[in-house]
Amino acid sequence: MVSSGQLPKNYDFAEVEERWRSTWRDEDHYFDTNSKKPQFVIDTPPPYPTGNFHIGNALNWCYIDFFARYKRMKGFNVMFPQGWDCHGLPTEVKVEELNHITKNDVSREEFRRMCYDLTEKNISLMRVTLRKMAFSTDWSNEYITMMPDYYGKTQLSFLRMLKSGYIYQSEHPVNYCIRCETAIAFAEVAYDDRQTQLNYFDFQGVEIATTRPELLAACVAVAVHPADERYHFLKDRKMKVPLFGHEVPVVQDETVDPAFGSGAVMICTFGDKQDVHWWKQHNLSLRKAIDRQGKMTAIAGRYMGMNTTDCRTAILADMKSQKILKRQENLAQRVGSCWRCKTPIEILSERQWFVKIKPDEIQKAAHQIKWYPEHMLLRMENWVEQMEWDWCISRQRIFATPIPVWFCKNCGEMVVPDEKDLPVDPTIVTPKHPCPKCGKNKFAGEVDVLDTWMDSSISVLNVTGWDGRGTPPYFPAQIRPQGHDIIRTWAFYTILRSVALMGSKPWEEILINGMVLGEDGFKMSKSRGNIIVPEEILERYGADALRQWSAMGAATGSDIMFNWNDVVAASRFQTKMWNIAKFALIQLEKEGFDQNTPVTALADRWLLVRLSDTIQQVSAAMECYQFDTALKAIREFAWDILADNYIELVKGRLYAGDASRKSALLVLHTAFDALCKMLAPFTPYFAEECYSHLNKGVSVHKQPWVSFTYDDEAARYEGNLLAQVVAEVRKYKHDTGLALNAPLGKVTIYAPHTVNDEGDTGRTLNADVHWRTDEVKLDRVITAIDFNRAVIGPAFRKQAEAFMTAIRALPPQQLTNPPKTIMLDGSEVGIPENSFSLKFSYVEEGAKVDVITVADVIVTIAKSA
Ligand SMILES: [Zn+2]
Ligand SMILES: [Zn+2]
Repeated sequence: MVSSGQLPKNYDFAEVEERWRSTWRDEDHYFDTNSKKPQFVIDTPPPYPTGNFHIGNALNWCYIDFFARYKRMKGFNVMFPQGWDCHGLPTEVKVEELNHITKNDVSREEFRRMCYDLTEKNISLMRVTLRKMAFSTDWSNEYITMMPDYYGKTQLSFLRMLKSGYIYQSEHPVNYCIRCETAIAFAEVAYDDRQTQLNYFDFQGVEIATTRPELLAACVAVAVHPADERYHFLKDRKMKVPLFGHEVPVVQDETVDPAFGSGAVMICTFGDKQDVHWWKQHNLSLRKAIDRQGKMTAIAGRYMGMNTTDCRTAILADMKSQKILKRQENLAQRVGSCWRCKTPIEILSERQWFVKIKPDEIQKAAHQIKWYPEHMLLRMENWVEQMEWDWCISRQRIFATPIPVWFCKNCGEMVVPDEKDLPVDPTIVTPKHPCPKCGKNKFAGEVDVLDTWMDSSISVLNVTGWDGRGTPPYFPAQIRPQGHDIIRTWAFYTILRSVALMGSKPWEEILINGMVLGEDGFKMSKSRGNIIVPEEILERYGADALRQWSAMGAATGSDIMFNWNDVVAASRFQTKMWNIAKFALIQLEKEGFDQNTPVTALADRWLLVRLSDTIQQVSAAMECYQFDTALKAIREFAWDILADNYIELVKGRLYAGDASRKSALLVLHTAFDALCKMLAPFTPYFAEECYSHLNKGVSVHKQPWVSFTYDDEAARYEGNLLAQVVAEVRKYKHDTGLALNAPLGKVTIYAPHTVNDEGDTGRTLNADVHWRTDEVKLDRVITAIDFNRAVIGPAFRKQAEAFMTAIRALPPQQLTNPPKTIMLDGSEVGIPENSFSLKFSYVEEGAKVDVITVADVIVTIAKSA
């Protein structure tokens, strides 16, 4: 059993963590498909394989591992899968950089292969960090979205939603990044405040203000408010666009702000969302002035081929030379830009694929999910409420899931593959059958690919076993853990897809974690130089310390500022715990413990009741994912209650070999065993190491969660009192210059109840301790008068000494209740406030004693001579 003899003096995290990492087996964390236990399936976020598992990921995964381990101990059949969300632009850009090419320099297939290779390499790097962090990943349920297995399912989900009418293609204005050369979804547009110029120019006699003169070629109407009398003369007229000469109608619209600029605005296709709205409302024509590369099109006439910035400069110059530019003003403006590359987005009308958004069914499903913390549901509600456009899912890129569709070159009919033939790349293979409409055999494969979120939004279907045939066996999952930054994307899209494909919510619960901020309180970024890399923390303090930091940093859902001090504190806690472990193990090794020993001493009963309280607290916190509350309670119990109070109290009894030694041994074992189990989810290496010394060959991670309860109201109250009294008397020893183990003489404790301390107090204080329940009888004696010279000096000057002598001469009863005045050199003078204070000593039964009060307890100390 116990083998404290081999326990090293210091806890060497590097050695311990490495040793257990090579001992633990992956199979221990596999989801058991034959299990009769209740399932607990986690829809783990699949990170983007950048090669670096960053600190934000670390926080997120720590949370997951805390509850995955806890749920296993609680008897659940846990699935903690690991996915990798591979597709997307960042990898394409990286491949271009690393190989000094652009995507157009090689074939699509070759480019995809290069992206695939880089992704595979990055995944293996990140797996190493995951293992070091001791995450109890179910590697038998790993998935990689770029693998045919997975993206075949993405394609299947596409076909199903196409069939049910959720997916359609149409020409529609979309947000477009001209740098990334792809359409993007609304959720991918970031809004920033910028300074721009508002240009007032003459539009055939009417003053128009615009921030985007380069869109003049795309002007399709002039709009005014119907009640604006200044422009009633324009009703039903056409106007000629300056510089370009095409005619546009004048429309009246209630939403035009008469107070902005001149009250007349031009509508272009498309300057912003408002233009799209008016364009639809008034059935206006479409003029595309900007192409997918951000260059001016043929309708821009002599500006054709320019980029938008050059075109803007040229048009303003031409307006100036034609004397139609009247004035320019600075204007603060919110500009939407691409969330990846920060390029301002354009709104282009494009043939794209869309997923229909049905706000009501998404809201309904979102409300059937339990949100931790609860207020995060509001973010989802607000996002769904403001959805105006459908989700644009087509992208004009390469490294992504192909859209499995062909078009007949003869009649234009859309042709889809059989589900059993998935996955397919329609740019490489052709349909197996001729066109069902015209019978011809020439097809064009769709070159657009799917938005990455189309892959990741079926992660839950994938992990619950979806293969297109009926409801997946483990659907819905029990929980989705994720960051609050992707509520409007990943959480939103997953709910949408789950409702569209399964008709119900994807998970029972969702747990939202905060972001990790740098030590300076700002978002971590290369430019600020405040990035903390998990590997550095692992190197310096080990995984358990990093995991403790994750738990303790903040309440679940709040952002956490990184702080090295917290990591150091975590590491100190392990040192403290290691010392407790060594002490407990040495004691247990001497004699062992007996489960049937009666526990009678107050200190023992007190520890059990405090342990029981702690277990209830920790379990309740774990149930609602409050990891900071849980670990804080564990630390306080271990450090304050067990180490600083209990062990100090019973040390003497254990050394003395008293009859009640066995009771203390049982209590020590119970507490230590429970601590190892409660720490197991948080510090898996440390808990395993400690537990392995307590129970040879038994893993703490295979133990059930601690279920110990002990109820003893009297012990809770009196024990707290006992601990406080001992702490106060020890402080007294320290303050009076005595060593903690020095003999103290006689200590009498006047408590409201009789206390059976089994002699613990006396041994701990090295004193002759008497517990009494009667009233204390004390005589008070003045032993000194402390004069306050800061008051006396200025008040009496040369008479100060005489004043003090007069005070000293007062009888004791007058000193404790001083008169207002005193005679000094024959004249009556006032006694200033605060001019002196008294020191007392107490006498109990004829002996001089010191007195300490703790709540309603009085302690008298008669020091030994
Ligand atoms: Zn971009
Ligand atoms: Zn056809």
